[in-house]
Amino acid sequence: MEIKLGQRHSEDGGFNCVMIESVDGSTDWQDIVKARRLLVSWGMIREIGGGYSDVRAVVIRRLGMEFTSEQVNDLGDELKREAQAHRTRDSVRCDCGHTVSRSHVMSASLGTSCPDCYDRMSN
Ligand SMILES: [Zn+2]
Repeated sequence: MEIKLGQRHSEDGGFNCVMIESVDGSTDWQDIVKARRLLVSWGMIREIGGGYSDVRAVVIRRLGMEFTSEQVNDLGDELKREAQAHRTRDSVRCDCGHTVSRSHVMSASLGTSCPDCYDRMSN
């Protein structure tokens, strides 16, 4: 099957996000889930809920391109390198202990936080 990265906006329009879609209408969603997990593990996208994910610049440049799930795997090394470069260039270590890009740092009552820890850090 083929996988397409499609551009979307969050419902409030506040952030760009990506939908990983099957191009050929395949009902084998395992490939999509696998591709999504890869992109998440590379730090390229972030689960938001409702299928939306945050998109980093490296992924935005690839929006509209279509990949087979195999090609998504092949992109791994390249994406990891770009993610690493992105992290070292523009990363902040939050009080929650995680390192995220500067634009993702949130201010919680217990200190700075990555988006995933915001609820915990707001107690
Ligand atoms: Zn965190």
